[in-house]
Amino acid sequence: MKFGGTSVGRPERMHQVKDLITRDNERKIVVLSALSGTTNALVGIGEALAEANKDLAKERIDTLHKHYLTFYKELLKGEAARTKAEKIIKEHFEFLNIILKISFNEAINRDILAQGELLSTKLFYTLLQELDINAVFLPALDFMSIDENHEPELHKISEKLKVILANYPEESIFVTQGYICKNHRNEVDNLKRGGSDYSASLIGAAINADVVEIWTDIDGMHNNDPRIVDKTRPIAQLSFDEAAELAYFGAKILHPASIWPAQQYNIAVKLLNTMEPDAKGTTITAKEIGSGVKALAAKDGITAIKIKSSRMLLAYGFLRKVFEVFEKYKTAIDMITTSEVAVSVTIDDLTHLKEIVQELERYGTVEVDNNQTIVSIVGNMIAESKGTVANIMDCLREYPLRMVSYGGSRHNVSILVEAQYKNEALKSLNEGLFEW
Ligand code: ASP
Ligand code: MG
Repeated sequence: MKFGGTSVGRPERMHQVKDLITRDNERKIVVLSALSGTTNALVGIGEALAEANKDLAKERIDTLHKHYLTFYKELLKGEAARTKAEKIIKEHFEFLNIILKISFNEAINRDILAQGELLSTKLFYTLLQELDINAVFLPALDFMSIDENHEPELHKISEKLKVILANYPEESIFVTQGYICKNHRNEVDNLKRGGSDYSASLIGAAINADVVEIWTDIDGMHNNDPRIVDKTRPIAQLSFDEAAELAYFGAKILHPASIWPAQQYNIAVKLLNTMEPDAKGTTITAKEIGSGVKALAAKDGITAIKIKSSRMLLAYGFLRKVFEVFEKYKTAIDMITTSEVAVSVTIDDLTHLKEIVQELERYGTVEVDNNQTIVSIVGNMIAESKGTVANIMDCLREYPLRMVSYGGSRHNVSILVEAQYKNEALKSLNEGLFEW
């Protein structure tokens, strides 16, 4: 059971989490995020230190510190528990204040980022102790690890966790941190922003859990972005493939990487709402249920790169050369479309754009379009169901389309438009593709 930042972000919410994990006697690992806002604040502290602005860093540490000093008093009532919480908070903020005095580097920054999950889990565990609820505190840094390519070491994680859990055959509640891990240098590291979902899915796979429950503040994955369109509804069932497309292409509710461990070990993932625990939410399994369009999602901040070359004509190996450039700079490609003389790809990580463009120019003329959005239409067998693509195009007739990707999988049609057309496109598709 993983609880996100908003689910633990207020003292009364933490109490709700306590209720949810004690509703039954099943054995469970409870994975917590940092309190909402904390990781952002820690990022801010790191940024201030990176700019050698110690005053600003200090100010940010103090603001965050104050937040915790109010939080624990509302969370805990008893003297003993409050004393424990004071010690925990003191320890972690002393650590942050010591960092102010030493020279800053990336490893220290990752240590800073880890404080949020350490604090949330320790405070939550103190609450369980105060209420006499039996639970085991399971430090994620004892079993969560990534290799030199930043990939989770699932086998190692599984071996370590099984050994640890075997020490507590009678216990049924285990509390651990999402997001944080050790890297191949044995330093504290993390699974990137939003990575607590990933932690939960990795842990679920590592122990072969019955189900991975992701508890958030919305009643499951919705068929469109509620911030943009008027009407949306939760989707009851999704296949792993559909969920992966949606999570990747913009449905913010689930970290995209968290699908594969569950999919590989065939563990159901449920997206549930802490504020409405009995709502059905979304269940993600291997089963492909229903047909036609199920949901839309959009991903901003996309850059399209077109490589045009007459050398591509009738040539083999051209695409390999193009892709090798992206591989060299560890930049993932999202969408691809080709014609006989040109290929267009999209990326969202612009760190090495300059070098990539320079190298691609060896193979042809290169054009770059920034500020694009991928609108993704996801469902079951979109590619085979007659008329679906025609309907999609009909909804988009008013907008210039930069790229159209269709036929790559049975679950997805992706369209690239300039960011300015995104909202209109989503609204028009919402009206035209769903029955309301
Ligand atoms: N606390 C981390 C973040 O805000 C990880 C997570 O919440 O999933 O990114
Ligand atoms: Mg999240």
